[in-house]
Amino acid sequence: MQKFYEARDRLQAVMLRDHLAVNQIASVVLGDYLSGAAGELSAINFPVVWLVEEGDLPRARQLLSEFLAPQAAAADWTCPVCGAQVEGDFALCWQCGGTRPTEENT
Ligand SMILES: [Zn+2]
Repeated sequence: MQKFYEARDRLQAVMLRDHLAVNQIASVVLGDYLSGAAGELSAINFPVVWLVEEGDLPRARQLLSEFLAPQAAAADWTCPVCGAQVEGDFALCWQCGGTRPTEENT
């Protein structure tokens, strides 16, 4: 067993475990139920993702960076229909309603 990544919450830990699983890397989530008495939640006990096979670590690190990358803010895009500049959070052009191009060319 190899300690791999301390997640910010259980959901992120489980999503990371699933992301590793689809890439044939076995991992487990531990630590999220280690708080003391019932109802006493400790912010110190973040869920930790452990790798079953230590040899998977280099590849798992690569997958982790992929896993975290989509969290970054979307880049602004230019509407292909009318040429307006649209903020990355929006999937539709504010001016003509055109959809964001699928290719991320900036
Ligand atoms: Zn437009």
